[in-house]
Amino acid sequence: MNFSLEGRTYVVMGVANKRSIAWGIARSLHEAGARLVFTYVGERFGKSVRELAESLDTSEGQEPLFYECDVTDDESIIQTFEAIGKDVGTIHGLAHCIAFANRDELKGEFLNTSRDGFLTAQNISSYSLTAVSRAAKPLMTEGGSILTMTYLGGEKVVQNYNVMGVAKASLDANMRYLASDLGKDSIRVNAISAGPIRTLSAKGVGDFNSILSEIEERAPLRRPVTQEEVGSTAYYLLSDLSRGVTGEIIHVDSGFNIIGY
Ligand code: NAD
Repeated sequence: MNFSLEGRTYVVMGVANKRSIAWGIARSLHEAGARLVFTYVGERFGKSVRELAESLDTSEGQEPLFYECDVTDDESIIQTFEAIGKDVGTIHGLAHCIAFANRDELKGEFLNTSRDGFLTAQNISSYSLTAVSRAAKPLMTEGGSILTMTYLGGEKVVQNYNVMGVAKASLDANMRYLASDLGKDSIRVNAISAGPIRTLSAKGVGDFNSILSEIEERAPLRRPVTQEEVGSTAYYLLSDLSRGVTGEIIHVDSGFNIIGY
């Protein structure tokens, strides 16, 4: 089997800065020879992702492309994927690394979640996968692989994760329904459940440091995972190595999810 991703194009959504999980995934795909198409929201992140991409040693045919895409806006999603289709033709996969919830609802009791906060978290962190997959499908003419990022807080109660935990539960089901619909087009849809990594989004979760300490004390590997480790599993899920796998959640979390005490 050929493990190279040379000649393949992947869309990576959600690089905010060098700590972003999406950036770990981008590097891993790049090392395997893929061409990368980045989407971002807002000029601040646009500048940041362009600077990061410049640091990649690209060979001919690997030149990165950049598009602004706000996943709360259907028109923005449609236009972005139309433009990507025009510029690169076929894509072979997509990494959806996007989530958002109001900071003040990522602490205290879940009971106090507002309607607006609930809907915002669902809209950006879960529904966006549906909308983006629909827009990407016409570009995946050779089949392909869609990957999203989830967290244990969607399966079990994690203190302070609150409204985002409910959004991740929704995202997990969303991923499975999409896998069921898109399988006939040879498009696979999977998720990585990453252990806690200190990123811009993670900073918004109340007392994130104690979530990290818990991993160090109780996870089988006794250490947090890195972006690179998530990137390696993403490479597996986005490449033909995982060609028989769809609708699956792989935990890349130092084994923390198996611990019950
Ligand atoms: P991050 O802050 O680097 O990335 C989140 C991205 O979401 C940012 O690039 C942001 O611009 C984007 N985004 C937010 N609203 C958007 C919108 N309206 N349109 C388009 N993009 C939008 O943080 P991260 O931790 O790398 O998060 C990536 C994914 O990984 C998220 O789904 C997150 O929930 C998930 N995850 C993170 C951890 C962790 O501990 N960091 C653990 C498990 C899962």
